[in-house]
Amino acid sequence: MAAPAAATVAAAAAAGGHRFDFDVIVVSAGIMGSCPRRLPGRAVPADGARPPPLGGRRGRVRAPRPHPDAAALPGPAQRCLGPRRRRERRRGGGGRPGRQVGRRVPGPRWVGGRRSERGSGVLNATEAVRMFQALAPKKGAVVRDNAEVVGIRKGPEGGVVVETSTGEEFSGAKCVVTVGAWTSKLVKSVAGVDFPIQPLHTMFLYWRIKPGRERELTVEAGFPTFSSYCAPHFVYSTPSLERPGMIKINYHGGPPCDPDSRDLVSGDGDGVERVARWIDEFMPGRVETAGGPADRLPCMYSMTPDEDFVIDFLGGKFGEDVVIGAGFSGHGFKMGPAVGSILAEMAMDGEARTAAEAGVELGHFRINRFDGNPMGNAKDL
Ligand SMILES: Cc1cc2nc3c(=O)[nH]c(=O)nc-3n(C[C@H](O)[C@H](O)[C@H](O)COP(=O)(O)OP(=O)(O)OC[C@H]3O[C@@H](n4cnc5c(N)ncnc54)[C@H](O)[C@@H]3O)c2cc1C
Repeated sequence: MAAPAAATVAAAAAAGGHRFDFDVIVVSAGIMGSCPRRLPGRAVPADGARPPPLGGRRGRVRAPRPHPDAAALPGPAQRCLGPRRRRERRRGGGGRPGRQVGRRVPGPRWVGGRRSERGSGVLNATEAVRMFQALAPKKGAVVRDNAEVVGIRKGPEGGVVVETSTGEEFSGAKCVVTVGAWTSKLVKSVAGVDFPIQPLHTMFLYWRIKPGRERELTVEAGFPTFSSYCAPHFVYSTPSLERPGMIKINYHGGPPCDPDSRDLVSGDGDGVERVARWIDEFMPGRVETAGGPADRLPCMYSMTPDEDFVIDFLGGKFGEDVVIGAGFSGHGFKMGPAVGSILAEMAMDGEARTAAEAGVELGHFRINRFDGNPMGNAKDL
């Protein structure tokens, strides 16, 4: 940890009379914090390692399903899905393409508003994060687990000083903050700023497939990854994959919660009942709903009012020394590699070449879109 910063930044720092433990300190190591892998020099992703039920990332499979607003990010989506699929195939990982809805979709009477597009599919979330964390040290990063960050302040010689709950302090020229559902709390405590990012309590729901119907709901049988976003239904699913004889069918959203004190057992409102009603209406005879899901795992969304991400400098006294990546609103996982590159470039270069090359206007993701406009980006879903 005491090793000097990499030559590129150390040279620049020496010229200015500055010296930091690290070029960039990344708080934390969820998917977004694990992906700024292109950081040159020494970076330290530190993660508070909240017990899994408290964290946002949970469960094995994420669906790179198209979000209704995905058109806003065409470049990153392509960057993200292409390389990861290739890498996972090489590693024998779980990137498995879904199928377009069509004749091969068995049985269900699909609702209007469902989406299942060519290119959607499933990936192994746990393996993806593990892979990026394994790659980070090869790029010179030092990973600190169980390091809950309780303070970020301006350094005496510029940059930032990051303080953990055990009293350790690290100085960095720059800092990237990606703390998921804890963003509003941390930003408020270090900068006194209110971010409109609301933690929502949500669930992974695993439903038992009725005997004899198991094969119908698999990738091999052509069952798709799909979203059914058509009020009052906000339901999505992946093919039966993770657990034999079960299928994951979830609702998008959930009640507001405090990430540090939520009711893990019954805090999800009527979400389970709504999914059960949807299953009975649109997949009759295939999935067991009497008695509820076979298993449920609590999880959290970090929701913005317009469900668009926040990718911005913190500003104020921190200026461009602290970069925030947050508010991924339940559809961020697939964007991890692209967002990670953008966050890394903002920290190192002050601007994101990746976004510019992809034709993505980052103004769409600035926090000031909510100034005098609580709903943020206009939507026509
Ligand atoms: C049920 C569910 C289903 C989802 N399905 C999809 C999907 O199908 N497709 C998709 O693209 N996305 C999906 N998502 C969304 C996706 O998982 C998130 O957008 C993504 O995980 C956000 O990543 P993150 O790194 O910002 O946050 P997280 O993964 O929540 O990571 C934040 C990390 O910060 C750490 N932390 C918090 N506070 C501190 C602190 N003070 N100091 C140090 N560390 C700290 C926590 O321990 C945690 O590890 C889903 C989310 C949920 C909950």
